[in-house]
Amino acid sequence: MDTSRAPEREHMVRTQIQARGVSNPRVLDAMRTVPRHLFVPQTCQREAYADYPLPIGSGQTISQPYIVAVMTELLSPNPSDLVLEIGTGSGYQAAILATCGADVVSIERIEEVAAQARQNLLNAGIKNVRIITSDGTVGYTDMSPYDGILITAGTPEIPCPLINELAPGGRLVAPVGDQNIQELIRITRLNNEFITEKFGAVRFVPLIGEYGWKEEGE
Ligand code: SAM
Repeated sequence: MDTSRAPEREHMVRTQIQARGVSNPRVLDAMRTVPRHLFVPQTCQREAYADYPLPIGSGQTISQPYIVAVMTELLSPNPSDLVLEIGTGSGYQAAILATCGADVVSIERIEEVAAQARQNLLNAGIKNVRIITSDGTVGYTDMSPYDGILITAGTPEIPCPLINELAPGGRLVAPVGDQNIQELIRITRLNNEFITEKFGAVRFVPLIGEYGWKEEGE
């Protein structure tokens, strides 16, 4: 793993993440370890560890580091858990999940974005992530059920195919709401019972697909 810019990562973890209450040691270690600068475009290198999202091209973003940490802590991946991410983007969130020890399947709808994410993960030396290009709202039954499902784009409601792909004991974390603002939701499956918890307001680019928002003009 690229160990350059480690002091910036340490500062990011202390001031942006621990200071706001994230405490899961595995999550903090992953945030300290993964070289975030390998997941942002050349033009944003100086801001790679800044406290806000950054553009990655194709109108998409890499999320704010704090939000990545919070969502990972809410998902609470255990080593060797199988996790499905919807919205690969830069591949950074998938890299954090993989560094927590999970095996990750990540779905991205835009081919160029998926190709760049594959390259980013290769550059960072992260192996346990498989990226698929498709509409993640319809789920990915090939490898289900999943111990964790993370949606990293804003959705009007939880796509029902994804609920059905959650293993007993599995957690699903997603931003749910309108296109301007969403609420971070966690659904935990206990056999056939589903527990819903809410964790405050967030703002994501839209989840576009059959069970998400419709593409403009559709
Ligand atoms: N997790 C990403 C990261 O670590 O950089 C950030 C995700 S970005 C905020 C949201 C991503 O979701 C975009 O790349 C977008 O193309 C993708 N997306 C939107 N709708 C999708 C869908 N139906 N299936 C898969 N990906 C989708």
